[in-house]
Amino acid sequence: MISAWLLERLACPVCLEPEGCPACSRGSGGHETCVAEYGERARCACGGPDKVRLRASEKSLDCPCCGASYACDAETGHADLVPREERADITQYADHEFHERLGVKDGPPVLSARVKADMMRRMLEPSAGEDVLDLGCGAGKLALFAQRSGARVAGVDVAPFFLPRAVASLDLVLGDLRRLPFRKGSFSRAYTLDVLEHLEEDGVASVLLEARRTIGAQGRLFVYTHAMESSRLARFQRWVNALARRLGRWGLIDHEREAMRKSDHRNAIRSHEHFDSLCERAGLMVSQRRYYNVVAKAVIEDLGLRLVEQLRRRRQEAKPVAHEAHGEVESHAAPVPIGRGALALATLLTWLMKLDVVLFGGIRTGPFFGLLEPRR
Ligand SMILES: [Zn+2]
Ligand SMILES: [Zn+2]
Ligand SMILES: [Zn+2]
Repeated sequence: MISAWLLERLACPVCLEPEGCPACSRGSGGHETCVAEYGERARCACGGPDKVRLRASEKSLDCPCCGASYACDAETGHADLVPREERADITQYADHEFHERLGVKDGPPVLSARVKADMMRRMLEPSAGEDVLDLGCGAGKLALFAQRSGARVAGVDVAPFFLPRAVASLDLVLGDLRRLPFRKGSFSRAYTLDVLEHLEEDGVASVLLEARRTIGAQGRLFVYTHAMESSRLARFQRWVNALARRLGRWGLIDHEREAMRKSDHRNAIRSHEHFDSLCERAGLMVSQRRYYNVVAKAVIEDLGLRLVEQLRRRRQEAKPVAHEAHGEVESHAAPVPIGRGALALATLLTWLMKLDVVLFGGIRTGPFFGLLEPRR
């Protein structure tokens, strides 16, 4: 969906307006100066200059500064504002096959995804009348969930693997989080879950900086990611993971999916102090922080459910399958739809998994939920 509400907020991802505060205003130069001075001007203590508004034509949005023409047509349901010259430098998440294999299904978030979604809702408090941005929205599952609070939600991701329901009811933009295509202060709330660990340190710093400009002086940003440290409780999780790997070798667990999900991790955040300093450089500060020690999650989701899942898959595979022309057995990876009973069980397990945050949320460890606000 590309609404008038969204069009008003879109901007050229790479062009900053000439006028800023006295410290970050640009002289007479054209787009070349715009590129050369981008980093310095965007980092200005004032929050940086606004980004250049785009001119809408029939099927594109055009930048009067760099001359780029960005695709924006109702057929695809999203605007494509990925910077033209940086297309090659995107993560594995843009790989279609990778997404296909992860197999996102529509439906309310459950288990650890729900624990994170509820933490986002509690700490960020998106409410009716608010403009919210999902940074790295993926298929759009969490954005659809956030929309239930009555907020207006837009999602931005580098790859267009959106759920049909997301395309129908959310404003979606293709973009690079390190060069956000939005006008200054367009959103009062933004969040980014399971994203920052995929970026190098410079990338994390850029995303924070771009997010600060996009949420303006009064906005809030919720983050879920991890620092490379761990509590003593995390030993339990490592033990469970080692067990899962062993079961994987015996074919009792499909360990490949989880390994694939993590294969792209850069893990640039060394410690919580390091994250604090990255925030400070971007003009942000962490005003609330809760940790995620995954004890119940390790047992329920990483071990128990995967054992059950693999059992079901094996039972399915035991049934006769069609043979392809060249004689190979057709793979039977089609997901089993979630029934009402399974959903009720998942809800119950989700509540149990919330104990990880309730009981251990104050114990410092790597994974954390953070609420960030602009420094004053
Ligand atoms: Zn420019
Ligand atoms: Zn300034
Ligand atoms: Zn431009």
